[in-house]
Amino acid sequence: EATEATQATGAAHAAAADATAAALARVRGAARAGHPRALAWRTERLTALRALLTERQDDLAAALHSDLRKPRSEVDNAEVGFTLREIDHALRHLPGWLAPEPVAAAALGRLPPGAAATTRYEPLGTVLVIGPWNFPVQLLLVPVVGALAAGNTVVVKPSELAPATSALFASLLPAYLGADTVAVVEGGPEETAALLAERFDHVFYTGNGTVGRAVMRAAAAHLTPVTLELGGKCPVFVDRDVDLAAVAARLARAKFANAGQTCVAPDHVLTDPGTGRRLTAELARAVEERFGPDPAASEHYGRIVNEHHFDRLVALLDSGRVVLGGRHDRADRYLAPTVLANVAPDAPAMREEVFGPILPVVHVAGVDEAIALVNGGDRPLALYAFTGDEAARRRLADETRSGAVNFGLPFAHLGVPELPFGGVGESGFGAYHGHHSFAAFSHRRARLDVPIGAA
Ligand code: NAD
Repeated sequence: EATEATQATGAAHAAAADATAAALARVRGAARAGHPRALAWRTERLTALRALLTERQDDLAAALHSDLRKPRSEVDNAEVGFTLREIDHALRHLPGWLAPEPVAAAALGRLPPGAAATTRYEPLGTVLVIGPWNFPVQLLLVPVVGALAAGNTVVVKPSELAPATSALFASLLPAYLGADTVAVVEGGPEETAALLAERFDHVFYTGNGTVGRAVMRAAAAHLTPVTLELGGKCPVFVDRDVDLAAVAARLARAKFANAGQTCVAPDHVLTDPGTGRRLTAELARAVEERFGPDPAASEHYGRIVNEHHFDRLVALLDSGRVVLGGRHDRADRYLAPTVLANVAPDAPAMREEVFGPILPVVHVAGVDEAIALVNGGDRPLALYAFTGDEAARRRLADETRSGAVNFGLPFAHLGVPELPFGGVGESGFGAYHGHHSFAAFSHRRARLDVPIGAA
């Protein structure tokens, strides 16, 4: 029997590998045939992706509810709405993005008269996009928007930790975009490793740094360029002079959306003890405003993705004194919006990315100490600060490094399509959104024309 079972599993694996090979052959064939170069091909695919999102929004919401109990308001805004805005931006600007850009004649130096130098963005071929579980729609499809706009065919690998969304995409993406435009490969580490052994023209990975390193190693075998969108701890400096009710409302919105499982979520607060106390009181009000007296009963509050992450987060509660929230229920994977007061800079909650609804408050005397703490850690994906002091803002921008620095409204920098979204150092490299997505999936080709007669 054991052999029969082993044989059956082996046969299933072989069938899955055959299906993947056939799907890859289709998208590669289309890229080789050159159809994706045409503007019409690209706009048709982007429009089809738009139709998928609007026509199947309820199905996506049901899948995201099953995977993460994601609130409908977050689905409509951060998942579907966000992706639609990126599609519309690309559709509006694509003809301009495709136009060759001339190099100024003055820069041509001693070339003969009549010479012209231009650059233009050309497709790479077939690209691989590997998505994470926390925003399974946005973080899979926004890169796909860039890949299609740039004239590539795409292989996508959704996260196995958001299985309902993954299964839905496996049927919807080829149905809407065509099996020669996009191939969906489902599975976990084993399937992803097999996929990464294949040759792609670009690999775009969103997730953690450990897997990011494995992706880069695998890509190196083919000299394939990679974009790594990784995580880290995004600090928030809160100065003593600010309107703490307004700050708390903005922090609560960014920290507790998706139950804190957001790569750009404020990870921890750096502030002086007095401001920390007053901020905690305002956060209690802001949380009640958003989720009511019992967040467990709120349709606007999500759940922790799985028991592994739930247990990891509950262990972090010991890193400080719980001054807000702290309630948890493993059967429901519920962890209340939580604030930990006076957390030591070397406490466990400060040694790893929190990636959940726990906000540690670390005491600093002022901006000097905040800058020193930020610089003592890995370079974050985003650095946030609330301060009315222009000199403090300048120092925070000049004396630290991070993927982005955002004064005043956490998350809002993601919604400006022409701001590059990406990390630096441990938070990754390469960037996307808007034109940056298009550029990330393109080769910027140099061209020089010199008239023969003029030499
Ligand atoms: P995850 O577990 O969903 O993994 C991401 C992808 O990697 C999945 O598709 C998964 O199948 C694949 N994978 C997992 N193990 C693998 C292996 N051994 N070999 C090959 N592929 C493998 O997501 P995660 O990493 O837990 O996501 C959370 C992390 O991602 C956090 O650190 C977060 O900050 C970061 N993140 C970053 C961004 C960003 O845009 N920069 C966005 C979201 C999440």
